[in-house]
Order: sequence, then structure tokens, then C-alpha cells
Amino acid sequence: QKSPSMRVFNQLESEVRSYCRSFTTVFEKAQNARLWDSGGREYIDFFAGAGAVNYGHNNLMFKQRLIDYLHDDGITHSLDMATTAKETFLTRFKEHILEPRKLDYKVMFPGPTGTNAVESAMKLARKVTGRVQIICFTNAFHGMSLGSLAATGNQFKRSGAGVPLPYTTFMPYDGYFGDKVDTAAYLEKLLDDPGSGVELPAAVLLETLQGEGGLNSASEEWLRQIARICRERKILLIVDDVQMGCGRTGTFFSFEQAGIVPDIVCLSKSIGGFGLPMALTLIKPVHDIWSPGEHNGTFRGNNLGFVAATAALDYWVGGQFEPELASKADKIQATLERIQANYPEHHIEIRGKGLIQGLAFRDAEQASRLCAAAFNRGLIMETSGPRDEVAKLMPPLTIEPELLDEGLAHLEEAMKELSL
Ligand code: PMP
Repeated sequence: QKSPSMRVFNQLESEVRSYCRSFTTVFEKAQNARLWDSGGREYIDFFAGAGAVNYGHNNLMFKQRLIDYLHDDGITHSLDMATTAKETFLTRFKEHILEPRKLDYKVMFPGPTGTNAVESAMKLARKVTGRVQIICFTNAFHGMSLGSLAATGNQFKRSGAGVPLPYTTFMPYDGYFGDKVDTAAYLEKLLDDPGSGVELPAAVLLETLQGEGGLNSASEEWLRQIARICRERKILLIVDDVQMGCGRTGTFFSFEQAGIVPDIVCLSKSIGGFGLPMALTLIKPVHDIWSPGEHNGTFRGNNLGFVAATAALDYWVGGQFEPELASKADKIQATLERIQANYPEHHIEIRGKGLIQGLAFRDAEQASRLCAAAFNRGLIMETSGPRDEVAKLMPPLTIEPELLDEGLAHLEEAMKELSL
């Protein structure tokens, strides 16, 4: 087999490109959790488009719906005009997702990406409360435009802004100081202390599990405390479920496990079902005080996204894969525990839950080395965390159990190589 050349990319594409530096091949095709490069080599996907293809690549049901829609000359671009594809999506979203969970949200289409959802949520919270500050957390990742970047903890990404990133206040996330410090109580004290210098914010913005920030999980109790602190002070709670939503942690919304109901929810990545750009901002009706046209964008209404997203919602309630999520998560955890026990010299910590788990290394470089050794065996996985110290496993939720086993076996071999 001939290895594809990266020459064109090296010559023509901006230096900002990153994944192609870790996964040094030219990809061509994909089906569920398998990818093939242009040389015909097969790879197992433990990356899932950074969470954008939770239901697998080229999901056959979604593909057929898209083909049928295009065959019938379905409209693809419509700004925020009313279309039948959007109508069907909204109706199904209400029936399949909101009603069974007794959730009442208006749906906003803020633009194509997760960043757009976060940006609109921050803007709306400021408009609703008339306050300015947004409280966000250490190691948070919320996007790359100036507002969402201001809420992102990663210093490397922030410094690229070239301008100050104001109006956000960083607080320690759950577990930031270890198990013994209650950072929810810390936040509450700072909010109530007139001497703390911490302004009453418009919103608290959080991920229930920090996907980019190193797979740090907030406990359910911590999330409930934060929700209470917000409720008691009329601070809006924004949950950024861009990466953890759509089943990644085992339930459709990650926050439902804690029994909290955010004021605003940001969804993107897998909501479009097929890896098509799509984002939602869910707003409690009382907060939906936007004036018509106040927040717009050319690509708010991706109708192919609506068609694939509707198929994805039907797929959820069809029960094809949801019952298998727990057993797949257990399998991943068992493998990670075995690796942890077999290689005590690496001082590995297991992070995450559901189908997003990882190995945090004390020596950050080992995580990148592990991912590189995995890639050489045909397994695609990325690193996460402020120092890239976590090797992150994030397969499509729909991965076949045998392929999951195969991928986990590659991971164990890669780990063995690392320790030689
Ligand atoms: N929020 C979270 C939690 C994310 O993980 C991401 C993307 N990694 C974003 C927001 C930004 O989404 P996008 O890249 O689609 O703009």
C-alpha cells in the first residue's frame, strides 16, 4: 500500500491546521466507526469528528433521507425562512426530546457552529439581566469568536485574540483544587461578599464535563449547587452541551443526569446528525426577549442539517443503540482500569464517563506518544487538556461492539509499546 502524500496540504494550507499533523494521512471514505485513507488503509475511529458524528459516519438511514430530500429538490438554503424541513425538525424535537423530559424551551438557530450557540447565549443573558459579567470556569472551552473565547480558559488559544478578552470571571471548576475544596461554596461566598470584587454576573456558563479541557467531570451535586446559587440570585445558568450533548455521556442532554434545568442550553456538533453544521440555542420561554432580526446570520437554516437532524432524533427514539451505551462505556472503563493497573509507573488517572473517557498522564508527553502509537496501529484518538496530557477515547456511540473491542486492543498494544 502506498502512503498518501501530505505535500499539497503542506504547501497550500495555512499553518493553523492541526489534526492533519497528528493523523498524517489523506482520508477518503468512512462508514460508521471506520475510516479509509486514499491509499486504502483502514482506521478505527475513537475521535468521532470531535463529537460531531456520534451516530457514525454515513449513517445509512440519515444518508437515505438526505438523498431523498435532494432528489425531490428540497430547499437547501433559506436563511431563517419557514421550511417544511425545519417544521418537521422542530416538531420532532419537541415530541422526541423536550416533552418526554418535561422541558419547555424555545429553539433558536444561532448559526452553523457551537461557537455561534455560545455567543448567542452570552449575548442573550446580558440582554435579559442587564448585567455584563459571565462567570465561567478554569479549563473551559466554549469557542473561538471573541465572546466565547473570553469564556475559554486555554491561554494558548486566548493569546491569539490579540485584544483583551473582557467581561468574564473565571472560577475554579469542580475538583480543580482536588476533592476537599468545595468550589461551589467558594463561588457562593465570593458572590455574596461585598468585599470580594466579584460582580453579580448575567450568567454562569459551564460544561458538565470539560471535553477540551481535560475530561474534568463536575459531580451531580456540584451541578445542583451551582443551579441553586444561580436560581437564588437570578443569574442565568447556561449549559454548553455542544460536546457532551446528543448522548455522549449516556443521556441525550448531559445535565439531565443531575436533574437540573438550565435557563439556556447550547447544542451543536452531533445535533446535525450527519456531521453537517448545525447549532441550537434552547431558551426558557420567559427569557426569549430577542427582537426580530436582532441576532442573524446567513447560515442559520441549514435544511440538509434539519433533515439529518430529524433522522437522528428518530434514530434516538427508535432505541437502536441507546440501550447499548452503558455496556460500551463499561467496556471502555474496564480497559482503562486494566491499563492503569498494569502501568503504575505512569501514574495514570482515568477521566470522563459514558463514551468519552480518557487516560490522564502525569508526564503530558506520554499522552501524545500514546495517540501516535495508536495511530500507527490504525486507531484514531486525540489528546485533550491544557497540556495535552489526556489521551481521549470518543468513538461514535454506534460503534459495533466487536470494533470497539478491536480498537481497545490496539490501545493496549500501543500502551505496551510506550512502556518498552
Ligand atoms: N463548546 C464546547 C464545549 C466545545 O467542545 C466546542 C468545540 N470543541 C465548542 C463549544 C465550539 O464549537 P464549534 O467548534 O462548533 O464552534
